[in-house]
Amino acid sequence: MPSALKEMEVEVFRAIDFHIHPFTHVSPDEILKTMDEAEVERAVLVGLDIDPADIDIRRVRDRIESMLLNLTMGLIFVQLDDLRKEAYDVMPSFRIDNEYVAKLVNLWPGRFVGFGSVDVCKGERYIEKTVKKIRRLGLKGVKVLPTAQFFNPALDREMVELLFYLCERENLAVIYHTGCDVGAFELPHLSESANPILLNGVLDNHSNLKIVLSHFGSYSARYPKIWFKECVEIMKKYDNTYADTAAVPYLLEDERAVAKIRAEVGFERVLFGSDYPAVILVTIKDEKNIVERTNLLTAEEKELVLYENADELLRSL
Ligand SMILES: [Zn+2]
Repeated sequence: MPSALKEMEVEVFRAIDFHIHPFTHVSPDEILKTMDEAEVERAVLVGLDIDPADIDIRRVRDRIESMLLNLTMGLIFVQLDDLRKEAYDVMPSFRIDNEYVAKLVNLWPGRFVGFGSVDVCKGERYIEKTVKKIRRLGLKGVKVLPTAQFFNPALDREMVELLFYLCERENLAVIYHTGCDVGAFELPHLSESANPILLNGVLDNHSNLKIVLSHFGSYSARYPKIWFKECVEIMKKYDNTYADTAAVPYLLEDERAVAKIRAEVGFERVLFGSDYPAVILVTIKDEKNIVERTNLLTAEEKELVLYENADELLRSL
């Protein structure tokens, strides 16, 4: 009984989910049903332009090989061929084409907002061509992942700045993965290109870009909050940055994390995202409940995070 009582006391907020993966093995009806269950009004669907063949781009392969060599110092032995095999096994089924995202948005324009994706490591001509196409498809932004798209904003600064420049010019927002990634990329060494601190300086000339640091720098099964501090530092320095809570809603139940966000950046740039259906057995409602129930946020802050910040950002695109 007490738990049922408690359930009744929790206020349900309207919400926009800023981070959903419309994997082709999950039907759009399933996504809509899961959104309805959570009383989510609209969702940002993100594309995923990934390609296992990227590992054989010379620059990418050389970099991975030297990283793997470094790992052996810590007695961690991973073979390039194992990584390549994993990439070929996993990546094709998680790829989400920009055209597919656009199709879903056209079918349910009141419920879905579409973000395309650009495989950054494929180089400048590819970036230009793909951003143009994303614009033509009527999508509102671009999702990129330093991990699965094998780029590093410090080492590949020209490509990353070109992407930022084009998005700024076309008024496309960027959703930028931060933290570790799944599979072999859970190893922090292999994910370190997704440490948000590497954006320091790179964002200097892009003050009109709207960029969402996905997962608050914290995504990691083994080391939760791995680069949270670095993420807050970047948000503090650049006020055109946002962060989403996708797969890391626990941050809003963490007293120190909440105090740090409130003191250093405020909640006007924090967005609710679920990462559905990427986290196995976790629904949108589960993630939203954590935000609704935390006693560390005021009702006004919850409203900002769950709805208003996203609404305002989307209106500006
Ligand atoms: Zn995600």
